[in-house]
Amino acid sequence: MGGFTLSNLVSKRVGNSAVVTIVEPQSRLPFAPAFQWLVFGWRQPEKIQRAPTSLVKRKNVRMVSDRVEKIDVNERTVKTQSQTIRYDKLVISLGTEFAFDQVPGLEAFSHNAYSIEGALKLRGAIDNFDGGSIAIGISRLPIKCPPAPYELALLLEEHFRRIKKRAEIHFFTPEPHPVPAAGTVIGKQVERLLNSHGIKYLSKTKLARVDKDKVLFDNGSELKYDILITTPPHRSSQVVRDAGLTDDSGWIPVNPHNLATRHEDVFAIGDITSIETPHGHAPYLPKAGVFAQGQAEVVANNLAVSITKKGEMKQWGGEGSCYLQVAKSESAFLKGAFLSNPPRLEFHPPRRKWFLEKLRLEKEWLKL
Ligand SMILES: Cc1cc2nc3c(=O)[nH]c(=O)nc-3n(C[C@H](O)[C@H](O)[C@H](O)COP(=O)(O)OP(=O)(O)OC[C@H]3O[C@@H](n4cnc5c(N)ncnc54)[C@H](O)[C@@H]3O)c2cc1C
Repeated sequence: MGGFTLSNLVSKRVGNSAVVTIVEPQSRLPFAPAFQWLVFGWRQPEKIQRAPTSLVKRKNVRMVSDRVEKIDVNERTVKTQSQTIRYDKLVISLGTEFAFDQVPGLEAFSHNAYSIEGALKLRGAIDNFDGGSIAIGISRLPIKCPPAPYELALLLEEHFRRIKKRAEIHFFTPEPHPVPAAGTVIGKQVERLLNSHGIKYLSKTKLARVDKDKVLFDNGSELKYDILITTPPHRSSQVVRDAGLTDDSGWIPVNPHNLATRHEDVFAIGDITSIETPHGHAPYLPKAGVFAQGQAEVVANNLAVSITKKGEMKQWGGEGSCYLQVAKSESAFLKGAFLSNPPRLEFHPPRRKWFLEKLRLEKEWLKL
């Protein structure tokens, strides 16, 4: 989300003063917020992916369909399997990887909706479910799009209620309350939503191990399940850790206003960054596409200004919003200035209009 947004904007602005090289192994890019719609058959995979055709047709854009294998910030090079690319300015937008190995049994026994394949597999499990117990939870923090697992729990409850199948849903998480970055007041509102749907909520409950029919937590308790769905642990790419770009957080620290890393002419945006919050609701800014895109706009602008000497430099303000879908065509809306101290945060209860807004975002992304 960040990398292509930035490449699109910067290549439009710099004309023939610069070449934008995009390194990306996938030829079709998914709209991740729609993965959960695959689970319920509301979308088919081909409808939530797009090829960046119009972008790669531009004369000043070069696409390298390969994985980054090494970044050398001293030599100013990016190495892929097939070539070494020299850069004047580098923007890193590699997102997150999943570290299933951090929890024994997780990969073998748990479903997830964090890829197209994962969501389709989960759909199969739900179609074959005969009623019983569903455990859904967050295994480790931080995660991308913190409301997404809550959204999935609410949608599952609605689904089974609609098709009249008995499903007892438990939600477990190491968080003290839902969506910690949004503060306790909004957290309580989300918790009330879970309660009103009969979902049992286990906060401060860290997953230790997964067995074939039960999960075990750090506090010694257990939970039996018929279907287990988890948000897998996230980590940054080995490539940026090897390049010395990360800090103790495991992610790339950046200046929140211009997304500069500690290395000259190297910027990082989106999920791979860690941005400390000034207010302590959560230690770091949450990972979300809306932030990746907002940061991409600022960095694209500033790169274009520094190359063309036209326009004014901008700063990123930490604003963002997201939708928490609670039913097939109804979403709540969360909005905030996450870097203000105190943060200015709003929670708007579920309405059809917020759901329609998310559909609009999906359309915009798919035509980019
Ligand atoms: C189920 C779900 C629901 C979500 N809902 C929302 C929502 O409603 N709102 C919202 O704002 N966000 C949402 N998100 C989060 C959002 O998708 C991410 O925050 C966003 O995609 C982050 O953008 P990014 O550019 O940092 O990383 P990504 O979009 O993940 O892009 C990273 C790219 O790097 C590429 N890459 C990785 N490693 C390499 C390598 N070694 N070499 C070359 N390329 C590589 C990948 O192929 C990928 O294309 C959701 C996510 C999920 C999973």
